[in-house]
Amino acid sequence: MLNKNLQKQSGASNKKDFRSDTVTQPTQAMREAMYRAEVGDDVIGEDPSVNALQEYSAELLGKEAALFVPSGTMGNQCAILSQTNSGNEVLLAERCHIIQHEAGAAALLSRVQLRTLSANSTHLQAKDLRTRIRDKNIKDVHYPQTGLICVEQATADGTVVPIEELAAIQAIAKTQSVPIHMDGARLFNAAVALNKEPRELSVFANTVSFCLSKGLCAPVGSVLAGTKAIIDRARGFRKILGGGMRQAGFLAAAGMVALKEIRPNLKADHDKATLLAERLREIPGAVIPFAPQINMVFLSLENYNISGHDIMNALRDKHIYIYPDEDGVLRFVTHHYISEEGIHLLVDALRPLLEANLKA
Ligand SMILES: *Cc1c(COP(=O)(O)O)cnc(C)c1O
Repeated sequence: MLNKNLQKQSGASNKKDFRSDTVTQPTQAMREAMYRAEVGDDVIGEDPSVNALQEYSAELLGKEAALFVPSGTMGNQCAILSQTNSGNEVLLAERCHIIQHEAGAAALLSRVQLRTLSANSTHLQAKDLRTRIRDKNIKDVHYPQTGLICVEQATADGTVVPIEELAAIQAIAKTQSVPIHMDGARLFNAAVALNKEPRELSVFANTVSFCLSKGLCAPVGSVLAGTKAIIDRARGFRKILGGGMRQAGFLAAAGMVALKEIRPNLKADHDKATLLAERLREIPGAVIPFAPQINMVFLSLENYNISGHDIMNALRDKHIYIYPDEDGVLRFVTHHYISEEGIHLLVDALRPLLEANLKA
């Protein structure tokens, strides 16, 4: 048995932490699975826990093979490296993670031209793709070739891409034989929101990545899935990027618990987001731009004379944690460690702050 101290650590510090689902700490079951994990040298393919996670993930997504990688960013970059040639054009939405939050990695590593579309949408739209995808039959020395299309599901903005949109994007991609990578950092949240199996979403892409370390509570890691040929290439790039980790089975073991024990309960996180949105709407002047689709709630500060920074600081004094606003909008993320009580504490702390600063 693990001692009491260790038990207390699981999640003790993130109960009122609404900054992100990345703050989730490993559960007690994960800590025990890590303690007991059978491991080996994964760089030569001998870690049984990593192999089990990869096989389980491939099965879950209906793909031939999967690869455990240290981060979602590395999963996305391995996908781009494995499916493009340098100088190719990659089509993706302007607000996506690969554009906004991966530090220009694709330019540095894959030497591709990232062409951003659908600037006014949270996700890539087929109608924008239709006119931008390059015709492979036109041989003009001026034109780059479209090498890859990237979609996000769910989006980092907390929205879910409709199935019809994914199908339309795939149909266009097929006309030019261009592969699709799905950045599914929160793929399982999207599946819950759409009431679909994960493989009913991954079928719209050649490669799919998902994060174990967000709402799934695992400490580290992401998985990239696809055909055996592409995953073999990706494994080579993972090594080049320094992502070959020896006895990584300790991490994979936690990831397996994440998939088997936390994944089936993600709906609860969405329900908490819905409850939070309902409670926030009770506050005079509160504007919730859209009803929560996954585990994220947004609150516009347009009707208040208080900055997101000041709200963040005031809440911190009550040991409630949020990030400052982005363009006047606060984001709250619910997860495994947020309780109903935590939600009420947040709203009860926010309400007087906002009411006192309501614009006339
Ligand atoms: C979190 C996230 C990633 C990966 O982030 P890492 O911090 O590198 O693990 C990728 N895409 C989206 C949409 C994300 O939200």
